[in-house]
Amino acid sequence: MMKCLVCGKAIDLEDAETKTGETAFGAKEVDPSKGTRQFHDGIWYYFDTLNCRSKFTVSPQRYLAGKT
Ligand SMILES: [Zn+2]
Repeated sequence: MMKCLVCGKAIDLEDAETKTGETAFGAKEVDPSKGTRQFHDGIWYYFDTLNCRSKFTVSPQRYLAGKT
């Protein structure tokens, strides 16, 4: 089970990865109401809400610091 990197809430990956559309680059879009993700430093990070993703985008080091 994936957890939101910002708030720690569990994320249902099946919901988060449900395909709702495609960008011009063919990348999957996810339903923001069920979870979202951000590509950072070669890895997809998952978040339960756009709000959490925004916090991560502003200062990713703050949330990655505790990870090894
Ligand atoms: Zn969160």
